Amino acid sequence: MGRVYNFSAGPAVLPEEVLKEAAEEMLDYRGCGMSVMEMSHRSKMFQDIIDEAEADLRDLMNIPDNYKVLFLQGGASQQFSAIPMNLMKNGVADYIITGQWAKKAYQEAKKYGKANAIASSEDKTFSYIPDCSDLNVSEDADYVYVCYNNTIYGTKFPEVPNTKGKILVADMSSCILSEPVNVEDFGVIYFGVQKNVGPAGVVVCIIREDLIRDDVMEFTPNMLKWKTQADANSLFNTPPCYGIYICGKVFKWLKAKGGLEEMKKINEKKAAILYDFLDNSKMFKGTVEKGSRSLMNVPFVTGDKDLDAKFIAESKAAGFENLKGHRTVGGMRASIYNAMPMEGVEKLVEFMKAFEEANTK
Ligand SMILES: *Cc1c(COP(=O)(O)O)cnc(C)c1O
Repeated sequence: MGRVYNFSAGPAVLPEEVLKEAAEEMLDYRGCGMSVMEMSHRSKMFQDIIDEAEADLRDLMNIPDNYKVLFLQGGASQQFSAIPMNLMKNGVADYIITGQWAKKAYQEAKKYGKANAIASSEDKTFSYIPDCSDLNVSEDADYVYVCYNNTIYGTKFPEVPNTKGKILVADMSSCILSEPVNVEDFGVIYFGVQKNVGPAGVVVCIIREDLIRDDVMEFTPNMLKWKTQADANSLFNTPPCYGIYICGKVFKWLKAKGGLEEMKKINEKKAAILYDFLDNSKMFKGTVEKGSRSLMNVPFVTGDKDLDAKFIAESKAAGFENLKGHRTVGGMRASIYNAMPMEGVEKLVEFMKAFEEANTK
């Protein structure tokens, strides 16, 4: 069987070129006679892999020198605890609640200090991004927290929120490297890689150096203390070596494609194919307000549960995988990350058109 068009929200599609290259190097990485999975994380061979991955990520995102890049384990969810532990000095943080991931981070932060929900879009099932131009930021907030792209609901911040001078912390798991961002607008950017970069098991944290401190909450586990990890250049203990190696290959793939300006153009074009169809269809509708739409995750519904189920079954049979919406939202969701080819979206829209015709009386 050939490869399917995989619209999974995560773990998600990876570039075929990268998978092929990894397959070629599986048994013997560049003449060293072993797989990257089998080599010491203290070897020169692996040091080169992680150094190159970091250099390429810095290059792609234009990460300034006063930011550290850490390759860690524990997924994005582990940072939900690490962030308050490392950043709460006054014991106060403000959270913008735009979906389940932001809410989970907020609930976790409450264990460690005073977490305030200063904006939310829960009133309309998270189908929009609240106005963040004049937020009620707490005077003593140690940081303001956002989930930049909401994987489940398909929204993305159209602009950087105005935090009134407070440090901005952003979970960019599902939009990282999909378009350029100005790293200096953020104190911390972090992302679990299994959405848009690599295999599950790696979380990357990009942290402004002055936020990496020794005086964290005293009970902070050594492993969750950013300083521990930064001082050891992500090699405090055994890092997720193979995952980092694949991420490195994806960074090179993105550079070869022309970098993030180019990815933005491609992603906008790709998303427009789907959104234009949804805006004109009589059967399918997008669920997100226009100004808040994600380039990466596109939820849509027919408004009829049985018809949704029929669509999901028939699309699967036609080679379009993982179009079922999140269990809390229902309907469908097409995740169209960097590695989803334009052709995949074009074919999906063709299929949707045909489905609409066949199922309209
Ligand atoms: C998937 C996802 C997470 C959770 O990631 P894990 O690595 O499974 O902990 C957090 N935030 C966002 C935005 C996500 O899409």
